[in-house]
Amino acid sequence: MTLERPLDTALSRLAGTGVLLVALDFDGNVSPHVDDPAGARPLPEAARAIEQLASLARTSVALVSGRAIDSLVEVSGVGDDVLLSGSHGGEYRMEVGAPPLSLSDEELEVVARLGDILREVAAQHPGTEVESKPAGHALHLRNADAETAIDAQHVVRRRVLNELSGITARPGKDVEEFSVLAATKGDAIARLRDHVGATGVFYSGDDLTDEDAFRVLLDGDVGVKVGAGDTLAPFRVPSPDAIAAVLTRLVELRGAVVGGE
Ligand SMILES: [Mg+2]
Repeated sequence: MTLERPLDTALSRLAGTGVLLVALDFDGNVSPHVDDPAGARPLPEAARAIEQLASLARTSVALVSGRAIDSLVEVSGVGDDVLLSGSHGGEYRMEVGAPPLSLSDEELEVVARLGDILREVAAQHPGTEVESKPAGHALHLRNADAETAIDAQHVVRRRVLNELSGITARPGKDVEEFSVLAATKGDAIARLRDHVGATGVFYSGDDLTDEDAFRVLLDGDVGVKVGAGDTLAPFRVPSPDAIAAVLTRLVELRGAVVGGE
């Protein structure tokens, strides 16, 4: 696949940076969206490119997802050399043996009550499904019919807002997510950039929460939005297949710069 020239030019420039961080949303970016979240897998070409990039000198790869870390490890199949941020910047796997997320008793109580509310709403709205995470819960609407999904969205927003405080709402594509952590994917990018000492960052993603990551990109970084919808990203591609091609191209360009090291 040939990339559009402005994107290819930006990638060529980024490939020459001192320390490169390649940060990637998972679902809808390196993996196509599927009805059953547990069945999501990276496209083979994307998985290969991630492995190759992670093995290059002065180059780090990170997955930055809304999934809980455990779920991200399960579906991504990436090696220990790939950094992970889960729960929209709320959880990290920066190194093996790093301490897990710790929440206060009050926060755990709110997470439990939030789960009760979402399960009640799901029980009243066929096709909707609750995904539980360490710091919150998400109500997935993708498998409900349109009318049910809209009603579930209104009901869950109203109930969470009225019955709980200290909750961050993260509406996404076909999902209503709530968390006791206010972290965003923008926080994840800042923390990862600092952790690896990156002088240049690549980020791609397809959902509304990825805009928080695009917002913190700096001059010389490259942001790529996947699919339709308003975005702050300067570049756009149509699908995860196209992202796999972009990553393959980045392997080639970066390999030419640091290959001998
Ligand atoms: Mg996504």
